[in-house]
Amino acid sequence: MKFDITKYVRKNLLKLEPYQSAREEFVDDGRKNILLDANENPFETAVNRYPDPMQVLLKERISFWKEVPTNQLYLSNGSDEFISQIIMGCCEPGIDHIVIVPPTFGMYKVAARTYGVGVKEVPLTIDFQLNVAAILASVNEHSKLIFIPTPNNPTGNSFKEDDIKEIIEGFDGFVIIDEAYVEFTKASSVIPWLIDHSNLIVCQTFSKAQGMAGSRLGMAFAHSELIHFLNKIKAPYNINSLTINKALQRIDEQSMVAEQVSKILSERKRLEISLSKIDLVKKCYPSDANFLLVKVDDSTLRYKQLLEHRIIVRNSSKNMGCENTLRISVGLPEENDTLIKVLINLDR
Ligand SMILES: *Cc1c(COP(=O)(O)O)cnc(C)c1O
Repeated sequence: MKFDITKYVRKNLLKLEPYQSAREEFVDDGRKNILLDANENPFETAVNRYPDPMQVLLKERISFWKEVPTNQLYLSNGSDEFISQIIMGCCEPGIDHIVIVPPTFGMYKVAARTYGVGVKEVPLTIDFQLNVAAILASVNEHSKLIFIPTPNNPTGNSFKEDDIKEIIEGFDGFVIIDEAYVEFTKASSVIPWLIDHSNLIVCQTFSKAQGMAGSRLGMAFAHSELIHFLNKIKAPYNINSLTINKALQRIDEQSMVAEQVSKILSERKRLEISLSKIDLVKKCYPSDANFLLVKVDDSTLRYKQLLEHRIIVRNSSKNMGCENTLRISVGLPEENDTLIKVLINLDR
């Protein structure tokens, strides 16, 4: 099956001649060069040189790690930047729209709105699963992208694999499977599906389990023609060299990351058990991620009371179907202890 990228992206961008950055014009063969091409300060500061615009070395390492060819890999300044770029690249402002499945991650809608792109919402079922029939019935020729985070934020659950597959196979546009929390789940990544599904995009991030939220690095995996297109419309130096170096180091520390993840998961279990015994907690939703969605008696009141104890949680009540909920990230054991203690005291 031939994949025709021109059907899925904005026509005027296909003709775009990308900015040629100085560092792209010569081939770095690893030998020492005299760099007089980019108006940099020649005195060493560790960051006096522009970063590699195509992140070649980092992509090679990620490619080996994730088992995806480098030409199917796009790096962004956090997944947030990728979300903006894919919307900007595929959706004609004022004409096209994206499809989201609330309660869902808030950035999809915000990013679409900043580009003047419409947002169609197809709510999850009451048990927070995908309403496949409603999603597929809602799309038309102006529906360009469907965003599905799994495990989902803010609900914490994973979606059923069969449902996800049905949407990918039933929709003639890109489906973005946002796997920001994939390290925390027993379900496996859908990255291997890329081989058979040219309209699938998978994104992951260094912000959650990888412990690099402050560094801003996202990864998107997709058909090579889409990656080629994204590279043409991206800012030339979107990933800075501090981030590149930190990520190279982090990829080598995966056994430590795995240990941290398993500690976070056992803490999540402990939190879940302790919270469920507290009266003001009405429900603790099952989680596949590093946070818990918790229904309480009065979320505004409890949010404020926690704040007075210098415990900051997310009041997630404004999300569809999430009235009176708090979203609580799993912290260090002693932080979780304090949270439990404070809530038990509020209960009296
Ligand atoms: C946290 C989160 C992200 C944000 O990732 P960044 O790489 O920090 O921009 C993306 N998607 C979901 C579902 C998230 O929860």
